[in-house]
Amino acid sequence: MAHIENGKTVVTLIPGDGVGPECVESARRVVDAVGANIEWEVRHAGESVFKQGVPSGVPDDTIASIRKTRCVLKGPLGTPVGYGEKSANVTLRKLFETYANIRPVRELPGVTTPYSGRGIDLVVVRENVEDLYAGIEHMQTPGVAQCLKLISRKGCEKVVRLAFEFARSAGRKSVACATKSNIMKMTEGTLKRTFEEVAKEYKDIESWHVIIDNCAHQLVKKPEQFDVIVTTNMNGDIISDLTSALVGGLGFAPSANLGSEVAIFEAVHGSAPKYAGKNCINPTAVLGSAVMMLRHLGQLEAAARVENALLVTLEEGKARTGDVVGYDSGKAASTTAFTDAIIANLGRVPKAGAARAYKPLKMPAFSGAVATVHPKARRVIGADVFVETDQLPAVLGPALTALAEGHALKLKMVSNRGTQVYPDRGTMIDCVDQYRCRFVLRDAAGELGDAQLLDLLTRVATKYRWMHVEKLQEFDGAPSYTKAQGED
Ligand code: NAP
Repeated sequence: MAHIENGKTVVTLIPGDGVGPECVESARRVVDAVGANIEWEVRHAGESVFKQGVPSGVPDDTIASIRKTRCVLKGPLGTPVGYGEKSANVTLRKLFETYANIRPVRELPGVTTPYSGRGIDLVVVRENVEDLYAGIEHMQTPGVAQCLKLISRKGCEKVVRLAFEFARSAGRKSVACATKSNIMKMTEGTLKRTFEEVAKEYKDIESWHVIIDNCAHQLVKKPEQFDVIVTTNMNGDIISDLTSALVGGLGFAPSANLGSEVAIFEAVHGSAPKYAGKNCINPTAVLGSAVMMLRHLGQLEAAARVENALLVTLEEGKARTGDVVGYDSGKAASTTAFTDAIIANLGRVPKAGAARAYKPLKMPAFSGAVATVHPKARRVIGADVFVETDQLPAVLGPALTALAEGHALKLKMVSNRGTQVYPDRGTMIDCVDQYRCRFVLRDAAGELGDAQLLDLLTRVATKYRWMHVEKLQEFDGAPSYTKAQGED
């Protein structure tokens, strides 16, 4: 996968925003000092690019460089208020389909935390391009916002296979799948079901499922029980900040965004603007990301040398950045002094906890064809029509029933923010002006045609503003939709 020019592996280097340039420069100096076979191609993204008027924050020459090198080391990117609509960082991850984000943390020598001595050494594998991060949002009414949580079977299979392959490459013993499938049975449930299927192919690795909220609880209570955790995008975002805090904070948390074609290495942390330009920030997270990059490029020895020099530096504690010793203590080493100390320690190994032995990661192969799951049978049996109105359910329900009179569809129920409000079941629900109105075929064995649905919409539109329609389908006889809370 590496792109070689003049005998050197070319890597796109994006300094980033805020503290990014300082962290990236530190990592670059150490990687150069270890004699790694790397040629840097500096490109830009983020704040400076937004300010030049590029709305995506990612200019063409950066995209061209990444297409060529397939490998990026980057600093964090800020999304300045008032520029661009999307995070340039999420854009970069998505533009190159880096579908898995690998976020390892381990107890570090010399970095004292309430967990010191417990041997935390775990990896969060976060799905990286789907879920709420697909960023498909709408204001359905002026007061009600919606964000679509899209989770695909293919997306789940990719991240789950990569999690198992990563576990094998890093000599790890177990993979836990953390989801909220008890509540979101279709979206989060797809990850759980896919995980259980794929796990059968990795019998050498222990596999288990944990509900994400309990996972957060267990991570604080007994983090040493975890090895690899695979989870959806939003869950992974949150628990990986939590896991970084277990070992000393965001300054110590590296990550790799991996896809079939491109890999992007970056710290978990953001641009920490309040520390920008002060030469005080901890560069360990970006340096750790550079170590992951060297392993990805097959430069395993250089990776181990850099990691060991970092561990020796932390273990000896002669140079520590302010996040370890306290920013105001006056004892903190500057970013450059800490980097100098790491460079001076290249070639040494720590007394305890040297770098793990890694085998090259076998990236799972996937077809580039559009992913399709083919059911044997499918049928449309109704539709949810979303309307905007300030009417109370007791007025809306009978009015919709009357509008559907003589139609193939009849009103089954109306819900507000997911809970049935019509027919009234004697419950107490505070309504907003966005209702989901569920219409089903009067003939339970029938099939709904588009013309019938359009006719229903025309009827609804005579009295109500509608903004969204969702067909109710059955795949192989099973409903492809969930019931409302309180719906029988
Ligand atoms: P942040 O930049 O990660 O900073 C949050 C806090 O984490 C800092 O105030 C600091 O804590 C600590 N921290 C972060 N990096 C550190 C380091 N290298 N060494 C030591 N401590 C470190 O999060 P944010 O303030 O929420 O976000 C700032 C900007 O970054 C936003 O524009 C956001 O969108 C962007 N962002 C970008 C990325 C990315 O590009 N990958 C990721 C996340 C956020 P203390 O205050 O306790 O010292």
